[in-house]
Amino acid sequence: MNNRETCHWFSVCPIRRYTEQNLIDKKWVEQYCKSEYWCCLRRKMQERGQYHPDNMMPDGTIDKRL
Ligand code: SF4
Repeated sequence: MNNRETCHWFSVCPIRRYTEQNLIDKKWVEQYCKSEYWCCLRRKMQERGQYHPDNMMPDGTIDKRL
């Protein structure tokens, strides 16, 4: 993977932090952040300036454990 294939929000995104802390499945980073990031709902909402909670996963599901 090179950087062109990683979402430009990755360094500041809570999904990265949760993954590093083993709080969520790394599939999110593999399927979205480092792959099809343009499909990520977090990213879409961020770029529209819409509020989205930290515990919202890239597909829009809320992880209530977080
Ligand atoms: S969760 Fe979405 S917004 Fe965050 S880094 Fe991954 S693709 Fe980008």
